[in-house]
Amino acid sequence: SNGTIAIQLAIKALNIDGEIITTPFFYFATTTSILWENCTPVFCDIDNDTLCIDAYKIEALITPKTQAILATHVYGIPCNVEIIEKMAIKHNLKVIYDAAHAFGVNYKQKSLLNYGDVSTCSFHATKIFHTVEGGSITTRNKDLFEKIRLYHSFGHVGDNYYSQGINGKNSEFHAAMGLF
Ligand SMILES: *Cc1c(COP(=O)(O)O)cnc(C)c1O
Repeated sequence: SNGTIAIQLAIKALNIDGEIITTPFFYFATTTSILWENCTPVFCDIDNDTLCIDAYKIEALITPKTQAILATHVYGIPCNVEIIEKMAIKHNLKVIYDAAHAFGVNYKQKSLLNYGDVSTCSFHATKIFHTVEGGSITTRNKDLFEKIRLYHSFGHVGDNYYSQGINGKNSEFHAAMGLF
């Protein structure tokens, strides 16, 4: 339905309920999603050149409660995805990218959305590609994909109810705008 619900679904589906290291140079939706999901944002300084999270300053902020990194590809400029991946593997953290500005951006000849456990996009009317309102979630993890798909549509498929869920669906009208 939008880029904010996409972030919230990602946090929920990854079972994150502790501290999330994130950027203080955000659109409000990034941080408010963390709070809405009862997690604690921990702000990490940003890089002077990219304006994205300074990946080299993440490690000093990690505590026993840290569960994830939520970083924004600011203005479509990629975060330092390699160092963030290293940190995530070393400290067993999940990585969510707020890629609201980065739909269609390639990094090393591949979609930037390949990085992290989940990347979220926004297709709001103010974005370069838009469907008036809308958003997306990208993940390479099939189980996570199925879980988020279930959550985004009330937790049911047809008449079978599997879990709690929310209304994160979009409409044919919005999709038509995207095609247009
Ligand atoms: C636009 C935006 C969002 C929120 O997206 P909506 O579709 O408006 O909910 C989140 N993060 C960033 C960085 C954005 O620019």
